[in-house]
Amino acid sequence: MAVCEILSVGTEILLGDILNTNSRYLSVELAKIGISVLRHTTVGDNAERLAAALTTALGRSDIVIATGGLGPTADDITRDVCCEVMGFETVLDGEIAEEIRSYFRGRGIDMPENNLRQAYVPVGGDVFRNKNGTAPGLGLKKDGKCVVILPGPPYEMAPMFQEYAVPYLAGYSDGVIVSRTVRTMGIGESAMAELVADLLNGENPTVAPYAKKGEALLRVTAKAETEKEAEEMLLPVIDEIRRRLGKFVYGIDSESIEERVVELLKKHSLTLATAESCTAGYIPKRITDIAGASSVFEYGAITYSNDIKEKILGVSHETLLAHGAVSKETATEMAAGIRRVSGADIGISVTGIAGPGSDGTNKPVGLCYIAIDTEDYKACEKIETGRNDREYNRYVNASRALNLVRRYIEEKEGK
Ligand code: ATP
Ligand code: MG
Repeated sequence: MAVCEILSVGTEILLGDILNTNSRYLSVELAKIGISVLRHTTVGDNAERLAAALTTALGRSDIVIATGGLGPTADDITRDVCCEVMGFETVLDGEIAEEIRSYFRGRGIDMPENNLRQAYVPVGGDVFRNKNGTAPGLGLKKDGKCVVILPGPPYEMAPMFQEYAVPYLAGYSDGVIVSRTVRTMGIGESAMAELVADLLNGENPTVAPYAKKGEALLRVTAKAETEKEAEEMLLPVIDEIRRRLGKFVYGIDSESIEERVVELLKKHSLTLATAESCTAGYIPKRITDIAGASSVFEYGAITYSNDIKEKILGVSHETLLAHGAVSKETATEMAAGIRRVSGADIGISVTGIAGPGSDGTNKPVGLCYIAIDTEDYKACEKIETGRNDREYNRYVNASRALNLVRRYIEEKEGK
């Protein structure tokens, strides 16, 4: 099986000035064509370290994909270093030189002489035309090893990869890898993993659990000769996961909880209103990020102070006095209040302690109550994230409140 490494070149990546999205993109795309990526390496714009990194990579892998440092300036050294390490001489290619000149002419700019450096190509290597910039990409194959060099800017790199590198690498691919992500809410990662423990030992498809922002996810990956075959291998495994995790599963792949909620509200012509304390607008923000939310989202109130909880939502003074703002009783009255004030079909509420400080009571940071109020169903859930992370707590509480809406509608659907 061909093994590949990605070598990113650029001091700006090491400094943290930019995020290395090229590596991520290439890993995803290489998997689709059946090439396993085993390592990501990043080096700065330094010839010695780049040569050393490439030599090491070639010592253990068949393919190295390098990105960045292909431009015209003195710090763009990738082409020269890669050609030297692979033992290719470079010569000026008249046709590419002319293309670069005309690229500048077309923009009415004088071409800096430096740019001609980009027209040097390896003798016996392959050249990939750059339709979105000036630096051509390169392919070098020798002694069973293959180096592909792509420009740094993602909008130049990605089309060049698809158009030239994918066919260039075809011979190395030994199948297609397809992945699906099963998304759950309301169950922890380890509890979820326990329910599918035997599936985690599978080799093809593989099933891998991971957690992200309060959600437990399962990534299911199959490898086959064709995409269709891989998809077919995934189906029974995903069905089995759905069967075991049941109501916790809210979507597959990139669908977010807010997308799912908007979809369900629309489907049943239901409207939603929110009353939030600690999440302070997070839920309406996420709901209205989805196009078409206006037909289902009625009203959002941020009722931070106790006084406003009383005035706007009609939470009783006695409830607040007896149980405090962060309590089941307050959350329940908030949800009922917002439904009454807005006239929406569904009212939800959130009241909690996001941290870092407590609320002056002995209640723990990360404690939150979320409630739902409808004509035929009312419920309140207690959440304890156990984390003193304000952003995390707010995000997770909002997600869980949205999940209450999802569960309510799905249960009505008989799921
Ligand atoms: P140029 O001709 O623009 O100089 P180049 O091939 O020499 O292209 P670099 O100079 O390394 O590429 O990077 C140019 C820009 O491309 C960077 O400033 C950055 O915005 C983007 N870029 C480079 N590498 C990456 C990467 N790994 N991930 C995301 N963006 C990147
Ligand atoms: Mg550059």
